[in-house]
Formats: sequence, C-alpha cells, structure tokens
Amino acid sequence: MNFTENFQKRSASAQCRCCDRVGLDPVLDLGEMPPSDRILTKDQLGDEERAFPLDVGFCPECSLVQILETVDPEFLFGKDYMYFSSFSQAWLDHCRSNALDLIERRELNSTSLVVELASNDGYLLKNFVEKGVPVLGIDPAPRQAAAAEKIGVPTLNKFFSERVATELAEEGKTADVIIGNNVLAHVADTHGFVEGIRILLKPDGIAAIEAPYIRDLVDHCEFDTIYHEHLCYFSLTAVDHLMRRHGLYLNDAKRLPTHGGSMRYYIGKREEPSEALKIMMEEEREIGIDKRDYYEDFANRVQTIRAELSKLVTRLKREGKRIVAYGAAAKGTIMLNSVGLDSSVIDYVVDRNVHKHGWFMPGVHIEILPVERLLEDQPDYVVLLPWNFKEEILEQQSEFRSLGGKFIIPVPEVRVV
Ligand SMILES: [Zn+2]
Repeated sequence: MNFTENFQKRSASAQCRCCDRVGLDPVLDLGEMPPSDRILTKDQLGDEERAFPLDVGFCPECSLVQILETVDPEFLFGKDYMYFSSFSQAWLDHCRSNALDLIERRELNSTSLVVELASNDGYLLKNFVEKGVPVLGIDPAPRQAAAAEKIGVPTLNKFFSERVATELAEEGKTADVIIGNNVLAHVADTHGFVEGIRILLKPDGIAAIEAPYIRDLVDHCEFDTIYHEHLCYFSLTAVDHLMRRHGLYLNDAKRLPTHGGSMRYYIGKREEPSEALKIMMEEEREIGIDKRDYYEDFANRVQTIRAELSKLVTRLKREGKRIVAYGAAAKGTIMLNSVGLDSSVIDYVVDRNVHKHGWFMPGVHIEILPVERLLEDQPDYVVLLPWNFKEEILEQQSEFRSLGGKFIIPVPEVRVV
C-alpha cells in the first residue's frame, strides 16, 4: 500500500491516545469524510458541509489502533446527535441478557448502584429498574436523555468525565457496576474517562466495557465501522496497557457477535486475570496483533471492496436497474461516501428509525424513507449497509425478497443474495 505523503506526515506527528508516544505507523486512509451520524434536513442540503480527514494509525509501543483526527465532541454528539439505540431488537436482547447476567453474577439488589456511561435512551438500564436495582444513566445527548427519563431511567445529561465522577463520588454515589457499551472508543479524553471509572467504582466493583474488537474489524474487513466518532480500535493488549496506567486491571473478557464482533472487557481494582483472559491474550500475541505486519494487507482488502462495490453498482445502473440502500446509520455513511455512491445512483435509503425519515444522508445527500417503502416500491437491488444485522433484516424482508428483490452485501466481500 502506497500512502500519500500527507498521510505519512500526519502519522509521523500523531501522538498515541494511550501511551503518548509521538509517531504512529500508517494503516488506512479513507480520505475526507463527513461526520457519519450527522444527517441533514432538506434545507441544509445547499449549505457547505464539513468534512474531516479519516485516517488510521497503529502505535508500535502499546498496540492501540486509532484515528488521527479528533473532531470536536460537541459537534459530533451534541444537540443534533440522532442515534437512538432502541431501534434494533437484536441489540435490545443483547443488552437485556447482559443486564440479567450482571444482576446474577454480582448479586445486585435494591442497595446496589449500576451506572451506565453513554446510556442513550435508557434501553439497557431499564432492565435493572425492572428488577428493583437502582441505576443512573449518564449521557450528553439531550433528546436521548429525555427519552430515558420518560421510561423511568434517571439520567444525568452530561459527558462523563473525571470531574463528573468526582462530583458523584463526593455525593456518596459510587458504583457496584459500571457499564459502558460502545463509548470507550468514542471519547476524546481517554485518560479522563478511564480515571473517571476508577473514581466512580467501589473497591470491589466491576466495570463491563464493550467495544468493537480490532481482530474482527481487520479479519472481516469491517472498514465502515471506522468513523470520526470511533477514535480507538481496541485489542485486549491495548486495553490492558490503558487500564494499568490508571491502576485498573483487565481481569476477564468475552467475545461478542455484536457490531460485527466486539469484546466485553471486565475491569476491576485488583489484578485477578481469569484463565480465559490469559489464553485470549496469548492468542493475540500469536497472531501478532501488537505488530505492524498484522495490519499490512488490511488496507489492500479495503480497496478491493470499494472497487468491487463501485463496479457492481455502476454496471447494474447501466443495465437500468433501480438501486436503493438499507440502513441510514454511521457505517452506511462511510460505505456510501468512501465508494462514492450518491443520489445519482442510489434512489433512497430506508431506515426503521422514524426520527430520520425525511432527512438526508451526510455527504451523499440521499433521502431517508421508511422501510415499508421497499415493498410498496419494489426496487431491484438494496445495498445492505448494517451488515451486522444482516440475518434480522433479510428475515424481515422475506416478502420483498420473494417478490424478486435482491440485497447487495458489501462486507466482508461484495456479494448478492
Ligand atoms: Zn501507544
């Protein structure tokens, strides 16, 4: 892979978000991309849209894979943030089983406290509330925090930080369990966030932190999960480094199928690594997750997917086929923009999230419509953008498919079903 001079320069001058080393190895350059979740109203289509470099580096010191650019979090997650977690049944089920497992494993009751960082619309904490376990959600997005309060989940409408943790601890609020799903990778102040966990956690408390697993990302070529909101791409090795810097210990971990492959990291204040963890960390060393070589052909495989998807859609369009897309979420923004599929080739994008209907995808400016549109309109091909919910979506669309509708699945390799 030949990297541009600019990318090489940016990598060489970048500082690692975990160990502070200056100088990262270049891994992948996706070019300038709009913020992936920042959908637009019709009126905004004429305005100039902001775009930022989206490129990835690897730290040879602590093994952390990370994007080089940090976009202002207020801009990404503030008042215009539109992501509501509760729109996928599979994700809701996943959260429920996590909650029930923690209640049993940690023997939680009415005297416990469960705190969730980035609690979104309260869909996860609700499971604890139903079992009589006190909770506190913390989330900076006002609409989601309001939605959580509405279903009985007390929520602090703030960015979690060292300061917020200190304030809560001073009020006597410390946590038996801290949950953070898909948030550790999102925070710009990684150290403040982890230090906050240390402050908020009771001495024998446990933090259960989920994040997409770099091994799945690389092995299955899930490059569209790389976006400005995801600053870090963790391995056990990298999390172990990060926690130790804050007097916390990675003690256990569990691989999960969510988001194309994630890891749940169990973290505590005493070092007591499980046998399973030791085995998984040894595996990481064996496949070389801490070495530059492991990431070497990743960028080439990404190029192949981009080229093949572009070729296929262009050919189908030339044949007069009508093509739409499914899933107006972040990875859809990255896939469509990085392949250059805009409203001249994709008629519209359907999505289950009613809050997004009538809005437009960032960058490519494709309108977002309800999912029911597929059956009414019966287009020829649907590019399936949230491939992590592939089974669920294909099942839901069995009628559309039985009438001849086809899905194009781009990852891990382009295919039509
Ligand atoms: Zn580092």
